[in-house]
Amino acid sequence: MSSIYLHIPFCKQACHYCDFHFSTSLKHKDAMVQAICKELEMRKEELPNKVENIYFGGGTPSLLNSKDLDSIFNTIYKNFSISEEPEITLEVNPDDIRKRVLEDFKSVGINRISLGVQSFFEEDLRLMNRAHNAKEAKESIELIKTHFDNFSIDLIYGMPAMSNSRWEENISIALNYDIPHLSCYALTVEPKTALERFIEKEVIPPIDDELAASHFDILYHILTSKGFEHYEFSNFGKHGFYSKNNLAYWTGKPYLGIGPSAHSYNGNEKRQWNIKNNVKYIKSISSNSLPNTSEILTKSDQYNEFVMTRLRLKNGINLEELKTRFGQNYFDYFILHIQPHLDEERLEIYKNHAYVTPNAKFLSDGIASDLFNIDFQG
Ligand code: SF4
Repeated sequence: MSSIYLHIPFCKQACHYCDFHFSTSLKHKDAMVQAICKELEMRKEELPNKVENIYFGGGTPSLLNSKDLDSIFNTIYKNFSISEEPEITLEVNPDDIRKRVLEDFKSVGINRISLGVQSFFEEDLRLMNRAHNAKEAKESIELIKTHFDNFSIDLIYGMPAMSNSRWEENISIALNYDIPHLSCYALTVEPKTALERFIEKEVIPPIDDELAASHFDILYHILTSKGFEHYEFSNFGKHGFYSKNNLAYWTGKPYLGIGPSAHSYNGNEKRQWNIKNNVKYIKSISSNSLPNTSEILTKSDQYNEFVMTRLRLKNGINLEELKTRFGQNYFDYFILHIQPHLDEERLEIYKNHAYVTPNAKFLSDGIASDLFNIDFQG
Protein backbone atom coordinates (compact mmCIF):
# COMPACT_ATOMS: atom_id res chain seq x y z
CA MET A 1 0.00 0.00 0.00
CA SER A 2 1.29 3.46 -0.93
CA SER A 3 -0.14 6.95 -0.57
CA ILE A 4 0.29 10.27 -2.31
CA TYR A 5 0.02 13.43 -0.22
CA LEU A 6 -0.36 16.74 -2.07
CA HIS A 7 0.33 19.93 -0.14
CA ILE A 8 -1.69 22.88 -1.49
CA PRO A 9 0.08 25.88 0.09
CA PHE A 10 -2.55 28.62 -0.03
CA CYS A 11 -5.03 29.93 2.55
CA LYS A 12 -7.42 32.88 2.57
CA GLN A 13 -6.09 34.08 5.91
CA ALA A 14 -3.73 32.87 8.61
CA CYS A 15 -5.34 31.05 11.53
CA HIS A 16 -3.69 32.25 14.74
CA TYR A 17 -2.50 28.81 15.87
CA CYS A 18 -1.24 27.48 12.55
CA ASP A 19 2.38 26.75 11.68
CA PHE A 20 1.76 24.83 8.46
CA HIS A 21 3.31 26.17 5.30
CA PHE A 22 1.00 28.38 3.22
CA SER A 23 0.75 31.75 1.51
CA THR A 24 -2.27 34.05 1.68
CA SER A 25 -1.53 35.27 -1.85
CA LEU A 26 -2.91 33.18 -4.70
CA LYS A 27 -0.60 34.92 -7.18
CA HIS A 28 1.38 31.76 -7.92
CA LYS A 29 -1.49 29.27 -7.87
CA ASP A 30 -1.35 28.33 -11.58
CA ALA A 31 2.44 28.00 -11.54
CA MET A 32 2.13 25.93 -8.34
CA VAL A 33 -0.32 23.49 -9.94
CA GLN A 34 2.06 23.09 -12.89
CA ALA A 35 5.01 22.53 -10.55
CA ILE A 36 3.06 19.96 -8.51
CA CYS A 37 2.25 18.08 -11.73
CA LYS A 38 5.88 18.20 -12.76
CA GLU A 39 7.08 16.97 -9.37
CA LEU A 40 4.65 14.05 -9.66
CA GLU A 41 6.19 13.15 -13.03
CA MET A 42 9.74 13.55 -11.74
CA ARG A 43 9.08 11.22 -8.79
CA LYS A 44 6.94 8.60 -10.49
CA GLU A 45 9.44 5.81 -9.73
CA GLU A 46 9.57 6.43 -6.00
CA LEU A 47 6.56 4.47 -4.80
CA PRO A 48 7.13 0.72 -4.49
CA ASN A 49 3.52 -0.40 -4.93
CA LYS A 50 0.01 0.57 -5.94
CA VAL A 51 -1.38 3.84 -4.69
CA GLU A 52 -4.36 3.25 -2.42
CA ASN A 53 -4.71 6.72 -0.92
CA ILE A 54 -4.51 10.18 -2.38
CA TYR A 55 -4.77 13.03 0.10
CA PHE A 56 -5.04 16.75 -0.66
CA GLY A 57 -3.95 18.68 2.42
CA GLY A 58 -2.49 22.07 3.10
CA GLY A 59 -3.04 24.91 3.27
CA THR A 60 -6.52 24.90 1.81
CA PRO A 61 -7.02 22.47 -1.08
CA SER A 62 -10.62 23.68 -1.54
CA LEU A 63 -9.08 26.78 -3.17
CA LEU A 64 -8.28 24.57 -6.19
CA ASN A 65 -10.81 24.65 -9.03
CA SER A 66 -11.87 21.71 -11.16
CA LYS A 67 -9.33 22.62 -13.88
CA ASP A 68 -6.50 22.50 -11.30
CA LEU A 69 -7.74 19.20 -9.93
CA ASP A 70 -8.15 17.76 -13.43
CA SER A 71 -4.52 18.55 -14.26
CA ILE A 72 -3.31 16.94 -11.03
CA PHE A 73 -5.47 13.81 -11.42
CA ASN A 74 -4.50 13.38 -15.10
CA THR A 75 -0.84 13.51 -14.08
CA ILE A 76 -1.33 11.05 -11.21
CA TYR A 77 -3.22 8.51 -13.31
CA LYS A 78 -0.71 8.84 -16.18
CA ASN A 79 2.33 8.26 -13.98
CA PHE A 80 1.30 5.97 -11.11
CA SER A 81 -0.44 2.66 -10.74
CA ILE A 82 -3.64 3.37 -8.80
CA SER A 83 -5.68 0.72 -7.02
CA GLU A 84 -9.24 0.10 -8.20
CA GLU A 85 -10.90 1.85 -5.28
CA PRO A 86 -8.50 4.40 -3.88
CA GLU A 87 -9.50 6.62 -0.97
CA ILE A 88 -9.23 10.18 -2.28
CA THR A 89 -9.60 12.84 0.41
CA LEU A 90 -9.74 16.58 0.00
CA GLU A 91 -9.50 18.95 2.97
CA VAL A 92 -12.01 21.76 2.64
CA ASN A 93 -12.92 24.88 4.58
CA PRO A 94 -16.59 25.76 5.19
CA ASP A 95 -16.37 29.15 3.45
CA ASP A 96 -15.44 27.45 0.15
CA ILE A 97 -18.35 25.03 0.10
CA ARG A 98 -21.09 25.47 -2.54
CA LYS A 99 -23.25 22.83 -4.24
CA ARG A 100 -21.42 23.38 -7.53
CA VAL A 101 -18.00 23.07 -5.87
CA LEU A 102 -18.93 19.74 -4.27
CA GLU A 103 -20.27 18.45 -7.59
CA ASP A 104 -16.95 19.38 -9.20
CA PHE A 105 -14.98 17.61 -6.45
CA LYS A 106 -17.09 14.51 -6.93
CA SER A 107 -16.80 14.53 -10.71
CA VAL A 108 -12.97 14.60 -10.61
CA GLY A 109 -12.90 11.55 -8.33
CA ILE A 110 -12.76 12.91 -4.77
CA ASN A 111 -14.61 10.39 -2.57
CA ARG A 112 -13.89 11.64 0.94
CA ILE A 113 -14.14 15.14 2.39
CA SER A 114 -12.38 16.41 5.50
CA LEU A 115 -14.02 19.64 6.69
CA GLY A 116 -12.14 22.08 8.95
CA VAL A 117 -14.93 23.16 11.32
CA GLN A 118 -12.76 23.52 14.49
CA SER A 119 -15.71 24.88 16.54
CA PHE A 120 -19.40 25.69 16.19
CA PHE A 121 -19.02 28.82 18.36
CA GLU A 122 -18.26 32.27 16.97
CA GLU A 123 -16.12 33.22 19.94
CA ASP A 124 -13.76 30.27 19.33
CA LEU A 125 -13.66 30.87 15.59
CA ARG A 126 -12.73 34.52 16.13
CA LEU A 127 -10.04 33.57 18.66
CA MET A 128 -8.55 31.21 16.08
CA ASN A 129 -9.02 33.72 13.22
CA ARG A 130 -10.84 31.18 11.08
CA ALA A 131 -12.15 32.47 7.73
CA HIS A 132 -15.63 31.02 8.31
CA ASN A 133 -18.44 31.48 10.80
CA ALA A 134 -20.56 28.95 12.69
CA LYS A 135 -23.50 29.26 10.26
CA GLU A 136 -21.23 28.43 7.30
CA ALA A 137 -19.84 25.43 9.21
CA LYS A 138 -23.34 24.02 9.77
CA GLU A 139 -24.56 24.75 6.23
CA SER A 140 -21.49 23.17 4.70
CA ILE A 141 -22.02 19.94 6.68
CA GLU A 142 -25.63 19.79 5.43
CA LEU A 143 -24.43 20.24 1.86
CA ILE A 144 -21.55 17.76 2.13
CA LYS A 145 -23.95 15.12 3.47
CA THR A 146 -26.05 15.35 0.31
CA HIS A 147 -22.99 14.63 -1.87
CA PHE A 148 -20.65 12.40 0.16
CA ASP A 149 -21.26 9.46 2.52
CA ASN A 150 -17.63 9.39 3.58
CA PHE A 151 -16.62 12.61 5.29
CA SER A 152 -15.02 13.86 8.46
CA ILE A 153 -14.92 17.08 10.43
CA ASP A 154 -12.04 18.53 12.46
CA LEU A 155 -12.65 20.03 15.88
CA ILE A 156 -10.19 21.71 18.25
CA TYR A 157 -10.38 21.37 22.03
CA GLY A 158 -8.44 22.81 24.96
CA MET A 159 -8.97 26.40 23.80
CA PRO A 160 -8.58 29.06 26.50
CA ALA A 161 -12.02 30.00 27.84
CA MET A 162 -13.67 26.92 26.35
CA SER A 163 -15.61 25.43 29.24
CA ASN A 164 -16.31 21.71 29.49
CA SER A 165 -19.95 22.37 28.73
CA ARG A 166 -19.15 24.35 25.59
CA TRP A 167 -16.89 21.54 24.42
CA GLU A 168 -19.67 19.03 25.11
CA GLU A 169 -22.02 21.21 23.11
CA ASN A 170 -19.58 21.26 20.19
CA ILE A 171 -19.51 17.47 20.19
CA SER A 172 -23.26 17.25 20.52
CA ILE A 173 -23.84 19.61 17.55
CA ALA A 174 -21.50 17.44 15.49
CA LEU A 175 -23.34 14.28 16.53
CA ASN A 176 -26.68 15.81 15.49
CA TYR A 177 -25.40 15.77 11.91
CA ASP A 178 -24.73 12.02 12.07
CA ILE A 179 -21.10 12.48 11.05
CA PRO A 180 -19.24 9.21 10.37
CA HIS A 181 -15.74 10.40 11.35
CA LEU A 182 -14.22 13.08 13.58
CA SER A 183 -10.62 14.23 13.94
CA CYS A 184 -10.10 16.18 17.16
CA TYR A 185 -6.92 18.01 18.11
CA ALA A 186 -5.79 19.76 21.27
CA LEU A 187 -4.90 23.38 20.62
CA THR A 188 -1.12 23.68 20.82
CA VAL A 189 1.04 26.77 20.85
CA GLU A 190 3.51 26.55 18.01
CA PRO A 191 6.58 28.79 17.90
CA LYS A 192 6.27 32.07 15.97
CA THR A 193 2.50 31.91 15.62
CA ALA A 194 0.11 34.76 16.44
CA LEU A 195 -1.26 32.57 19.23
CA GLU A 196 2.18 32.43 20.86
CA ARG A 197 2.48 36.25 20.67
CA PHE A 198 -1.01 36.80 22.09
CA ILE A 199 -0.25 34.51 25.03
CA GLU A 200 3.11 36.22 25.64
CA LYS A 201 1.38 39.63 25.64
CA GLU A 202 -1.35 38.24 27.92
CA VAL A 203 -4.06 39.06 25.36
CA ILE A 204 -5.08 35.39 25.58
CA PRO A 205 -4.66 33.19 28.66
CA PRO A 206 -2.14 30.36 28.35
CA ILE A 207 -3.15 26.87 27.29
CA ASP A 208 -4.20 24.75 30.24
CA ASP A 209 -3.08 21.10 29.85
CA GLU A 210 -5.55 19.94 32.49
CA LEU A 211 -8.40 21.53 30.56
CA ALA A 212 -7.25 19.78 27.38
CA ALA A 213 -7.03 16.46 29.24
CA SER A 214 -10.53 16.92 30.59
CA HIS A 215 -11.85 17.80 27.09
CA PHE A 216 -10.20 14.68 25.72
CA ASP A 217 -11.86 12.59 28.42
CA ILE A 218 -15.27 14.04 27.58
CA LEU A 219 -14.65 13.45 23.89
CA TYR A 220 -13.52 9.87 24.37
CA HIS A 221 -16.45 8.92 26.59
CA ILE A 222 -19.15 10.58 24.51
CA LEU A 223 -17.94 9.31 21.15
CA THR A 224 -17.20 5.74 22.24
CA SER A 225 -20.67 5.58 23.84
CA LYS A 226 -22.19 6.68 20.52
CA GLY A 227 -20.68 3.90 18.45
CA PHE A 228 -17.45 5.58 17.35
CA GLU A 229 -14.23 3.59 17.45
CA HIS A 230 -11.22 5.42 18.79
CA TYR A 231 -8.86 3.96 16.22
CA GLU A 232 -6.09 6.54 16.56
CA PHE A 233 -5.34 9.12 19.24
CA SER A 234 -6.93 12.04 17.32
CA ASN A 235 -9.34 10.05 15.18
CA PHE A 236 -12.75 8.54 15.83
CA GLY A 237 -14.70 6.69 13.14
CA LYS A 238 -17.87 4.71 12.78
CA HIS A 239 -17.29 1.14 11.60
CA GLY A 240 -16.14 1.21 7.95
CA PHE A 241 -15.26 4.92 8.07
CA TYR A 242 -11.70 4.86 9.37
CA SER A 243 -9.44 7.06 7.26
CA LYS A 244 -7.29 4.64 5.28
CA ASN A 245 -4.84 7.43 4.64
CA ASN A 246 -4.40 8.12 8.37
CA LEU A 247 -3.97 4.44 9.13
CA ALA A 248 -1.39 4.00 6.37
CA TYR A 249 0.54 6.92 7.83
CA TRP A 250 0.39 5.65 11.41
CA THR A 251 1.40 2.11 10.42
CA GLY A 252 4.50 3.27 8.54
CA LYS A 253 3.41 2.64 4.95
CA PRO A 254 5.29 4.52 2.21
CA TYR A 255 3.99 7.86 1.04
CA LEU A 256 5.08 10.41 -1.49
CA GLY A 257 4.69 14.03 -0.36
CA ILE A 258 4.33 16.47 -3.24
CA GLY A 259 4.36 20.27 -3.02
CA PRO A 260 6.28 22.75 -0.85
CA SER A 261 6.97 21.53 2.71
CA ALA A 262 5.54 18.05 1.98
CA HIS A 263 7.27 15.12 3.67
CA SER A 264 7.82 11.69 2.11
CA TYR A 265 8.68 8.33 3.62
CA ASN A 266 9.84 5.19 1.82
CA GLY A 267 8.34 2.86 4.44
CA ASN A 268 11.77 1.90 5.61
CA GLU A 269 14.64 4.11 6.61
CA LYS A 270 14.43 7.19 4.40
CA ARG A 271 12.51 10.42 4.96
CA GLN A 272 12.63 13.49 2.78
CA TRP A 273 10.97 16.87 2.79
CA ASN A 274 10.50 19.67 0.28
CA ILE A 275 11.53 23.27 0.71
CA LYS A 276 8.99 25.46 2.58
CA ASN A 277 8.88 28.32 0.12
CA ASN A 278 6.44 28.60 -2.79
CA VAL A 279 8.59 30.68 -5.15
CA LYS A 280 11.78 28.66 -4.53
CA TYR A 281 9.84 25.41 -4.92
CA ILE A 282 8.38 26.48 -8.28
CA LYS A 283 11.76 27.76 -9.54
CA SER A 284 13.57 24.62 -8.55
CA ILE A 285 11.02 22.26 -10.10
CA SER A 286 10.91 24.29 -13.32
CA SER A 287 14.67 23.86 -13.63
CA ASN A 288 14.27 20.08 -13.17
CA SER A 289 15.75 20.00 -9.69
CA LEU A 290 13.90 18.47 -6.73
CA PRO A 291 14.03 20.94 -3.82
CA ASN A 292 14.24 18.39 -1.05
CA THR A 293 16.42 17.27 1.82
CA SER A 294 16.58 13.72 3.13
CA GLU A 295 17.70 11.80 6.17
CA ILE A 296 18.37 8.14 6.84
CA LEU A 297 16.76 6.94 10.04
CA THR A 298 18.93 4.85 12.36
CA LYS A 299 17.50 1.63 13.77
CA SER A 300 16.98 3.48 17.04
CA ASP A 301 15.03 6.27 15.22
CA GLN A 302 12.89 3.63 13.51
CA TYR A 303 12.19 1.89 16.83
CA ASN A 304 11.20 5.21 18.44
CA GLU A 305 8.86 6.03 15.58
CA PHE A 306 7.38 2.56 15.70
CA VAL A 307 6.66 2.90 19.43
CA MET A 308 5.25 6.41 19.11
CA THR A 309 2.96 5.73 16.15
CA ARG A 310 1.72 2.29 17.23
CA LEU A 311 0.91 3.37 20.78
CA ARG A 312 -1.48 5.96 19.29
CA LEU A 313 -3.40 3.18 17.54
CA LYS A 314 -6.31 1.14 18.82
CA ASN A 315 -4.37 -2.07 18.15
CA GLY A 316 -1.34 -0.92 20.12
CA ILE A 317 2.09 -2.49 19.75
CA ASN A 318 2.31 -6.05 18.47
CA LEU A 319 5.11 -7.49 20.62
CA GLU A 320 5.95 -10.19 18.11
CA GLU A 321 6.30 -7.59 15.35
CA LEU A 322 8.50 -5.46 17.59
CA LYS A 323 10.81 -8.41 18.27
CA THR A 324 10.97 -9.50 14.62
CA ARG A 325 11.64 -6.00 13.31
CA PHE A 326 14.09 -4.76 15.92
CA GLY A 327 15.57 -7.88 17.57
CA GLN A 328 15.94 -9.19 21.11
CA ASN A 329 17.88 -6.20 22.53
CA TYR A 330 15.20 -3.71 21.58
CA PHE A 331 12.48 -6.09 22.74
CA ASP A 332 14.13 -6.47 26.16
CA TYR A 333 14.60 -2.72 26.39
CA PHE A 334 10.90 -2.19 25.65
CA ILE A 335 9.75 -4.78 28.21
CA LEU A 336 12.00 -3.28 30.89
CA HIS A 337 10.73 0.27 30.28
CA ILE A 338 7.01 -0.52 30.11
CA GLN A 339 7.02 -2.05 33.59
CA PRO A 340 6.34 1.19 35.55
CA HIS A 341 3.48 1.96 33.14
CA LEU A 342 2.05 -1.54 33.59
CA ASP A 343 2.29 -1.13 37.37
CA GLU A 344 0.48 2.21 37.21
CA GLU A 345 -2.13 0.74 34.81
CA ARG A 346 -1.32 3.23 32.07
CA LEU A 347 -0.42 0.31 29.80
CA GLU A 348 -1.73 -3.23 29.61
CA ILE A 349 -0.73 -6.31 27.67
CA TYR A 350 -3.44 -8.38 26.07
CA LYS A 351 -3.02 -11.12 23.45
CA ASN A 352 0.63 -10.17 22.91
CA HIS A 353 -0.14 -6.49 22.25
CA ALA A 354 0.74 -3.55 24.48
CA TYR A 355 -2.05 -0.96 24.71
CA VAL A 356 -2.60 2.35 26.42
CA THR A 357 -5.46 1.90 28.88
CA PRO A 358 -8.58 4.07 28.36
CA ASN A 359 -7.79 6.24 31.41
CA ALA A 360 -4.30 7.02 30.13
CA LYS A 361 -5.17 7.67 26.47
CA PHE A 362 -4.46 11.38 26.70
CA LEU A 363 -0.94 10.54 27.89
CA SER A 364 -0.13 8.30 24.88
CA ASP A 365 2.66 10.50 23.45
CA GLY A 366 4.25 11.02 26.87
CA ILE A 367 4.22 7.28 27.58
CA ALA A 368 5.77 6.64 24.16
CA SER A 369 8.60 9.08 24.87
CA ASP A 370 9.38 7.23 28.13
CA LEU A 371 9.90 4.12 26.01
CA PHE A 372 12.15 5.76 23.41
CA ASN A 373 15.54 4.22 22.99
CA ILE A 374 18.27 6.67 23.92
CA ASP A 375 20.64 4.25 25.60
CA PHE A 376 22.08 2.27 22.72
CA GLN A 377 22.14 1.94 18.94
CA GLY A 378 21.39 -1.77 18.53
S1 SF4 B 1 -6.86 27.10 6.96
FE1 SF4 B 1 -5.67 25.39 7.81
S2 SF4 B 1 -3.63 25.54 6.86
FE2 SF4 B 1 -4.69 27.50 6.52
S3 SF4 B 1 -4.00 28.82 8.17
FE3 SF4 B 1 -5.92 27.87 8.84
S4 SF4 B 1 -5.29 25.99 9.92
FE4 SF4 B 1 -3.53 26.70 8.74
